[in-house]
Amino acid sequence: MPSPFLIVAIDGGAAAGKSTTARALSARFHFLHIDTGSYYRALTAALLRLGVNASDSAGVERAVANIALGTVVDGRRASITIAGDTIPEAELRGPAVNAAVSHFAAIPAVRAALLAYQRDQARIAREHGFAGLVMEGRDIGTVIFPDADFRFFLHADPEERARRRAAEGQQDSIAERDRLDSSRKAAPLLCPPGATDIDSTFLSLEEVVARVSEPIAARLGAA
Ligand code: C5P
Repeated sequence: MPSPFLIVAIDGGAAAGKSTTARALSARFHFLHIDTGSYYRALTAALLRLGVNASDSAGVERAVANIALGTVVDGRRASITIAGDTIPEAELRGPAVNAAVSHFAAIPAVRAALLAYQRDQARIAREHGFAGLVMEGRDIGTVIFPDADFRFFLHADPEERARRRAAEGQQDSIAERDRLDSSRKAAPLLCPPGATDIDSTFLSLEEVVARVSEPIAARLGAA
């Protein structure tokens, strides 16, 4: 019997270990890796380039309606394009986007623009012959794929997460973004009911990857 196409959702706060875990799953099981944080970052960068302010929700809604989203698959990773172009990593991870992204992500029109787009990534993964997809974000197991085959929620103490970001050479307002992401009305950051909750504060990333991989390997008969 052919293996089923699997959808794996990984949610959690900033620097909780989602990307490392998702990349490892993607490599081991040949899943398309989708980092939805980079999608919110790209849309934020595009809105900032247009000079749109996050406090002007009607202006944001108008601008978002005119932004054409596309996807490029590079290796095992999907990236979003805006009017046909990818936005440089330095801009996506830069201070202006870091400071603005959670404000734009709280606006329902921004989330609505990305909802169908994110669900459609399953079709793209199938078309490219992937065995499944692993999607990381804040609302994947609650809103985007509540029926995902596997749903994980990663968390870690804020001090440990700040240390991880600093070790990557990045400055990031983790605590402030988490506060905004957890308290917003639209799709707040929370552990999906029934998801596997993993506290990674005292685990190495290898240990987190091992825990997350185990049930997937078992399902695929690859344990
Ligand atoms: O994952 P990353 O830290 O790059 O995400 C940047 C921001 O994008 C988050 O702080 C959050 O405001 C927003 N986001 C979201 N929903 C997702 C993924 C990211 O609101 N599924």
